[in-house]
Amino acid sequence: MRYSVLTLFPNQVKNFLSESILGRAMEKGVLSVECIDIRDFAGNRYGKVDDTLFGGGTGMLMQCEPVYQAFSSLYNRDSEKKPHCIFMSPKGQVLTQSKARELASFDHLVFLCGHYEGIDQRVLDEIVDEEISIGDYVLTGGEVAACVVIDCISRMIPGVLPNSEAYEEESHMQGYLEAPQYTKPNIWHDQEVPEVMLSGNHAKIKEWKRLHGLYDTWKKRPDMLVKLDVSAEDWKKLLEIDKETQERNSIHKNEN
Ligand code: SAH
Repeated sequence: MRYSVLTLFPNQVKNFLSESILGRAMEKGVLSVECIDIRDFAGNRYGKVDDTLFGGGTGMLMQCEPVYQAFSSLYNRDSEKKPHCIFMSPKGQVLTQSKARELASFDHLVFLCGHYEGIDQRVLDEIVDEEISIGDYVLTGGEVAACVVIDCISRMIPGVLPNSEAYEEESHMQGYLEAPQYTKPNIWHDQEVPEVMLSGNHAKIKEWKRLHGLYDTWKKRPDMLVKLDVSAEDWKKLLEIDKETQERNSIHKNEN
């Protein structure tokens, strides 16, 4: 996968993406990220790329031509196909796991990051294929948002994580949340790891994870659970888990 990020603050993006799992994926050559500084295409000595708003209003708006030139530098208009361009925007479709999965199938993605008041609409109309938001709130710039989207897509690209199991069982991948997880020691603060986890019985562990994933979805994200067709049999088991959980929590609270 090749990512190109068009930004006024390339270091923000580079610093975030060069660490940890994504940094290693880049070293291995599974991913490449190039950050294009829109200011390099300012076309004036001062590196000025924004101006005041027509019609009034506070703040500055990024101008068309530097953005257009930065985007055009990524490919040869005569011989190459236009790369898929995503504008990071609070007006866009809110990122979901399935959207990220869809984007993971591209070979090259361009992320356009706005700053200040945003970007002149005319260049957006000309180069942008889709707008993506990372949530219903407003950030100072699209850089953090682009990093979020890149991070989410990259986990699903072969070679980034050890194997596909590492992400297929995560929260949101199957429409519900992941079950609680445990590591050593077996007992911590008098709390034991659920017995089944130490049983070595893979079928039982799988079923425990499925039911406890559903249980967490019910408790934490009921809006997600209503979209799942939970069977009467599973509901019975979820109610049992609920009873056990409440008993365990009350014992634990009384002890502490
Ligand atoms: N005037 C714009 C907000 C500009 S914020 C409006 O009201 O719609 C500056 C830039 O930050 C935007 O151009 C966009 O690139 C980025 N940004 C802000 N909030 C975002 C969000 N929730 N998701 C993705 N990008 C966002």
